[in-house]
Amino acid sequence: MSTDDHRKTAVIAGAGPAGLTAALELLRRSDIRPLVFEAGPQVGGISRTIKYRGNRMDLGGHRFFSKSDWVMNWWQNILPIAADPLAPAAAVRLAYQGGSADVLPGNIAHAASDDVMLVRHRLSRIFHRRRFFDYPLKLNAATLRNMGVIETLKVGLSYGHARLAPHQPERTLEDFFINRFGDRLYRTFFKDYTEKVWGVPCREISAEWGAQRIKGLSVTKALAHAAMTPFHRLSDTAQKHGETSLIERFLYPKFGPGQMWEEVARQVTQCGGEINLRHKVVGVEQRSFEVIAVKVRDLTTGEVRRIACDHFISTMPVSELMVQLQPPDAELLRIATGLPYRDFMTAGLLLRRMTARQDAARGTAGNGMPPDNWIYIQEPDVRVGRLQVFNNWSPAMVADPDTIWLGLEYFCREGDDLWSMDDSRFLEFAAEELEKIGMIDRRDVLDGTVVRVPKAYPAYFGDYRDFGRVRSYLDRFTNLYPVGRNGMHRYNNQDHSMLAANRAVDCIIDAGHGKSGIWDINAEEEYHEETRSL
Ligand SMILES: Cc1cc2nc3c(=O)[nH]c(=O)nc-3n(C[C@H](O)[C@H](O)[C@H](O)COP(=O)(O)OP(=O)(O)OC[C@H]3O[C@@H](n4cnc5c(N)ncnc54)[C@H](O)[C@@H]3O)c2cc1C
Repeated sequence: MSTDDHRKTAVIAGAGPAGLTAALELLRRSDIRPLVFEAGPQVGGISRTIKYRGNRMDLGGHRFFSKSDWVMNWWQNILPIAADPLAPAAAVRLAYQGGSADVLPGNIAHAASDDVMLVRHRLSRIFHRRRFFDYPLKLNAATLRNMGVIETLKVGLSYGHARLAPHQPERTLEDFFINRFGDRLYRTFFKDYTEKVWGVPCREISAEWGAQRIKGLSVTKALAHAAMTPFHRLSDTAQKHGETSLIERFLYPKFGPGQMWEEVARQVTQCGGEINLRHKVVGVEQRSFEVIAVKVRDLTTGEVRRIACDHFISTMPVSELMVQLQPPDAELLRIATGLPYRDFMTAGLLLRRMTARQDAARGTAGNGMPPDNWIYIQEPDVRVGRLQVFNNWSPAMVADPDTIWLGLEYFCREGDDLWSMDDSRFLEFAAEELEKIGMIDRRDVLDGTVVRVPKAYPAYFGDYRDFGRVRSYLDRFTNLYPVGRNGMHRYNNQDHSMLAANRAVDCIIDAGHGKSGIWDINAEEEYHEETRSL
């Protein structure tokens, strides 16, 4: 950092979507100089793209869609949308979890360019009993065939029973599911997966949370959708008039989500901001509820520097921030350090082919690759939760188009048996699991890599109930802005993190903006990245 620069500075901890949005907005809208410190070796946070021997993968698949026009325009300003070669001037309608947006032709870029976002159709199915089921469930011959007539009848009866004699009062997530889907459907399609994701029985999660997370989705709607599908083409008209949460089309950068954040980082640096990778914020110095400096450790040399600042935007986990602030009330520290998280691992597997399955048919490639973007694995005898097929997110994610590039997602806990498994053993384990459910022959695995993501999911149980006290303490600081997914302990998508970061910039530029505007983002909890049941 140059010493003859007398502009005010904002230190930003973290170069994920929140940190980078704040940095670019500060540069666009003020004279304040952002100094970004990122503990990891690359930008993008959980939305980064991992590059492995010419192949690219997300930590999970990252769909780009927001109900906020501001976010949609912001993204397009960084990476425009590739034109549909068949209708280059046509507006594109995107739809995602109850929202929709039209993309204006003026924003559409040339299809051949690399610096673009692609428009993708969602296909994600459920793999259960070694068979594919449509998601959302459709009332069609394939479903009946997969479930069998007897099982279908049992599901129907159990649904009827739940409607006539619902679990009252509806206290737990299990009650919530059973009341809407019936016991049998809940056990078939929701229980295992949800418990895999959160590592907690559905009986121990509150019904309120379920209500927020899968608002509007019910058997009735799924069945209504199933009945209506033959009358609509899977087209704009259907998306306009149908239940938008059930038909989805979203944006995806040609080279994965990291491409967006790498370009934002480039612009931040170009406009005079500073991004320091492998630099971790390890201490915060405050005086009378004003942050005056942070301590940053260079993870390459081990050296710790003191960086004076006028503002501090933190996207690091709020538990870590509280440890650094050392509040005088020990109870606050106990709540913050007790906040629950779920951790996450991805095994990237490169394959020659997959086992061709008749029921995977819909456009299955000659090498057996299913047409899905991702597949929910609902099989109790394996631990993998979801399977990403990166070829279907963007062909540019794969170096050799004749190979299949998969991401096997495991929800776990830092330090548990999966987390601690040696990488090569973990790759073997992942391949064994796919072989066990009949999707691959292990001998077709060509290569693989493992990524561990600590604190991937901030969870809303346990000590989270007292989080309001932590927030009140943090709100007393005049120039401290905790934003982002772990920064606010909010189950954010990228757009929520970006919006919160933008509101923090509003507050910095004009003190008239109250901090409550930041916390209002994503407070309704109605939609987040896809975990299907939650
Ligand atoms: C499996 C999965 C699938 C997802 N799918 C989608 C999707 O489809 N669409 C979507 O929009 N979103 C999706 N998300 C959510 C998205 O990844 C996050 O909302 C987004 O990355 C949050 O951005 P952030 O900047 O708030 O936090 P993060 O991405 O977590 O970035 C925080 C950054 O801060 C750094 N950091 C932490 N501590 C320190 C420190 N002390 N000093 C310096 N740096 C530090 C971290 O290394 C990290 O880079 C998904 C998430 C997961 C886990």
